[in-house]
Amino acid sequence: AERSPDRLRSPICCVLGHVDTGKTSLLDKIRRTNVQGGEAGGITQQIGATYFPMSRLRTQTDKINKDLLLDYKIPGLLVVDTPGHESFSNLRTRGSNLCDIAVLVVDIMHGLEPQTLESLQLLRRSKTPFVVALNKVDRIYGWEPHKFSPLRDTLAKQKSYSVSEFETRTRSTIAAFQEQGLNAALYYENDDFKRTVSLVPTSAITGEGIPDLLMLITQLTQQMMGHRIMFTPWVQCSVLEVKAIDGLGTTIDVCLTNGEIHEGDEIVVCGMNGAIVTTVRALLTPPPEREIRVKADYQRNKVVTAAMGIKISANDLEKAVAGTQLLVVHPDDEIEDLKAEVQRDLESIMGGFATDTTGVHVQASTLGSLEALLEYLRSIKPPVPVASVAIGPVHRRDVMQCAAMLERAPEYAIMLCFDVKVTPEAEAEAVSAGVRFFTADIIYHLTDAFERHLAEAKA
Ligand code: GDP
Ligand code: MG
Repeated sequence: AERSPDRLRSPICCVLGHVDTGKTSLLDKIRRTNVQGGEAGGITQQIGATYFPMSRLRTQTDKINKDLLLDYKIPGLLVVDTPGHESFSNLRTRGSNLCDIAVLVVDIMHGLEPQTLESLQLLRRSKTPFVVALNKVDRIYGWEPHKFSPLRDTLAKQKSYSVSEFETRTRSTIAAFQEQGLNAALYYENDDFKRTVSLVPTSAITGEGIPDLLMLITQLTQQMMGHRIMFTPWVQCSVLEVKAIDGLGTTIDVCLTNGEIHEGDEIVVCGMNGAIVTTVRALLTPPPEREIRVKADYQRNKVVTAAMGIKISANDLEKAVAGTQLLVVHPDDEIEDLKAEVQRDLESIMGGFATDTTGVHVQASTLGSLEALLEYLRSIKPPVPVASVAIGPVHRRDVMQCAAMLERAPEYAIMLCFDVKVTPEAEAEAVSAGVRFFTADIIYHLTDAFERHLAEAKA
C-alpha cells in the first residue's frame, strides 16, 4: 500500500475526565465556535463522534498559527464523545487502540479528582498520548472573559490578582501531577512534549483557550504521530455498536480508522454464531450540524474516508458483535481466512470460561466490556461461576436461557447486565420466570450489587 507522509488521515481524539469537569461543554463549544463563525456545513455530529474538517478548525487555530506557521496536513479531527471511562475501554479492540490522542479534562478549581486518576491509569495502560485541558479558567476570581481568545492574549489582559490565582492553581495542579509521577507544564512552557504533559487552560463557557487546544492537538498529531496517522488504502474499522433502527433493520455503528469504504463493498464481521459476510447497502452519516436520530435524517455516501464514524446498513447484522474488527473483502482474499480472523478474539474469550454448568448469565455491550466483566468475576474470591454470556441488548431468549438455571441452582438464576438495554419483553419474561436482573453502567456498581445479593443468599 502506498503510504506517504504527505497524506495523513484524520486523527481520532477522545475526551476523558472526572464528571462535571466540562467534557460535554467543551465539545459543544468547539462545535458552536464554527457555527458562530457563520459557516454553514462541515461539522457533523457523527455516530458517537464529531468530525471537524480542517477548514472549520482553521478559524480557531489561525489565531495562534500566525506565529507558529504550522502546515495543516491532517484533513480534520474526529472527536469521540466518551461519556465515561468504561466507554474508553470499548474503543479498544484487542491489541489496538482506536484513540490516537486524548484530552484529559481537569477542573482548574478542583484539581485532580478520583475519576481523573482513573482516566490517567487508563491512558497510561493503553499508552495513549494526551494533553490536559485545565478547564473553567473563567471561574477564577475577577476573570474578564475574551470570547474564543488564545489563552496568552486573554491572560495578558487580566488583573494581577486574577493572574496570580491562575498561577497558584496551575502550580498546584502541576504538583498534583508530580505526585502521580508525571511531569506537567503549561503547554507554552513545555520544551519536551515527549516527557512532559501539556496543560492547556480553557473555558467551555467563553471559548478561551479553545484555539490553543485545537492547535496543540493538530501540532502534536502531525509532528509526533505522523507515521501512525498516515493514510493507507487498507481498511481498519471497528464495530462500536449494533443497533436496530426503524426502517433500516439492524445496523452497525463503526469507526473507520484508516482507509476508505464504499457502498457495495463486501464486508466480514464477527458474529455471535459465526462470521457474517454481507454487502454494504448504505454508508450513513448524519447531515452537517444536525443530531437527529431518525432514518430520514441520515445522508448516504458513496464512499467514506478515514477517520469517520459511520452507520452501516446491510443484511444479516443481527448477531454482529460490538468491539470487534470489520474487514473488507478484496478480489484476492480468501473469505475463509477473513472469517477466521474476525472470529478469533471472540473465540479466545469464549474459550476461556464456558465450562461452568452452574452459574450466572453475563451480558455486556461489547466484546471488550464482556471480557473485562468476565475477568473481574474470575478474579474475586470466590470466583463467580458463569454459565452463559451474550453481547448486546437483552432479549427474551436471553432470559429464557438464564431461567434454565432455576431448577439446577436457583441462586444463580441471575443476569449480570453491563451497559446494555433490556427489552420490555425480556423484562416481562424475567418477572414471570423469576429471574433476577442486576444492571449497571459501571462494572463495580454491578458487582457490588451482586456481592450484596450473594451475602443475603448465604445469610
Ligand atoms: P462533563 O460531566 O464533564 O461532561 O461536564 P459538563 O460539560 O456537563 O459540565 C458540567 C457543569 O460545568 C455544567 O453546569 C457546565 O455548564 C459547567 N461548565 C463546564 N465547563 C465550564 C467552564 O469552562 N466554565 C464554567 N464556569 N462552567 C463550566
Ligand atoms: Mg458529559
